[in-house]
Amino acid sequence: MNIPNTMRALVKSRPEVGLWMEEVPVPEIGPNDLLIRVRKAAICGTDLHIYKWDQWAQNTLKLPLVVGHEFMGEVVAVGTHVAGFSVGDRVSGEGHITCGYCRRCRAGNRHLCRNTVGIGVNRNGAFADYISLPAVNAFKLPTLIPDEVASFLDPLGNAVHTALSFDLVGEDVLITGAGPIGCMAAAIARHVGARHIVVTDTNEYRLELARKLGATRVINPAKTDLKTTMAELGMTEGFDIGLEMSGHPEAFRGMLDTMNHGGKVALLGIFAEPVSIDWGKVIFKGLVMKGIYGREMFETWYKMSSLLQGGLNVVGVLTHRFKRDHFEEAFDIIRGGHCGKVVLDWED
Ligand code: NAD
Ligand code: ZN
Repeated sequence: MNIPNTMRALVKSRPEVGLWMEEVPVPEIGPNDLLIRVRKAAICGTDLHIYKWDQWAQNTLKLPLVVGHEFMGEVVAVGTHVAGFSVGDRVSGEGHITCGYCRRCRAGNRHLCRNTVGIGVNRNGAFADYISLPAVNAFKLPTLIPDEVASFLDPLGNAVHTALSFDLVGEDVLITGAGPIGCMAAAIARHVGARHIVVTDTNEYRLELARKLGATRVINPAKTDLKTTMAELGMTEGFDIGLEMSGHPEAFRGMLDTMNHGGKVALLGIFAEPVSIDWGKVIFKGLVMKGIYGREMFETWYKMSSLLQGGLNVVGVLTHRFKRDHFEEAFDIIRGGHCGKVVLDWED
């Protein structure tokens, strides 16, 4: 393939609200990197924070920056020291680039690296014709996984990492937050054999999406009390497993109220501010809590790939598709919240 010198990319080039489609140089690759021609990319809440230029974005980003971290594409060039990849490979990629020398990295637990650098946040990302990625971060795609699904393996990986942190088989699961990740977590819980999968959200559109993906009950906590639903389901004790995927304090507190003794809670949602909880609920119920960041490297990727090949169906979470030049419409849809996953088609 003929690789041009410049490419189209969605860039945060100015410290103000917005993103701009610009002509920028095609990234160079080092000896351990791959150059990937991006085919599909998906938009994440993080991209919206960057678009809005909120306090987090202002504190975190160095401009200019090519944004985006959920993507799939085709390898078009291979660094001189890379083994195991060839031009033409269909790949997605882990967006957390880790140092390789800290204690956790050296132990093979790269997801716990203390020096993680994020593509599309701390270095140039995937909303571009081409992205340069360390080969170790690339994941070869089985043919059974279609391009569109492959473009959002990053958030599916968040869902898989969170949902499989504790044994769900035959258990009653509460998922707070029916964003794309909460909805996919419901599908995973169903696929692996949970009993009741109750999903809460204040957004009715998203509750419907969660139902479609596999929730056995969906609840708007502004209208229905969680405990009433539990009684209707014949649950006498409480939830065995809690997956916090909203980042909202009220949802988390409600979860702690309804967990059974000895229950297990995995926390993925990011709270905007420090949150106070009744620690008595954690202590006297003997709850186990686990924070989740990203995907296990790379165990989550293999699990996710195998789950998809084994019949896990998350296609329904994809609700909107746009050509890359219509990115403004895509961001509008996400701002409105009446959507699941939104994918940008990056082909010419
Ligand atoms: P999202 O923002 O699309 O979904 C969050 C959902 O929570 C929304 O649908 C919202 O309506 C709902 N919500 C708001 N208040 C609620 C309440 N009181 N009870 C129940 N639900 C409520 O986000 P997403 O992309 O699905 O991601 C889920 C969460 O995970 C977000 O907080 C995100 O920032 C976080 N996240 C964390 C990681 C990580 O590595 N830890 C990675 C990706 C995303
Ligand atoms: Zn490290």
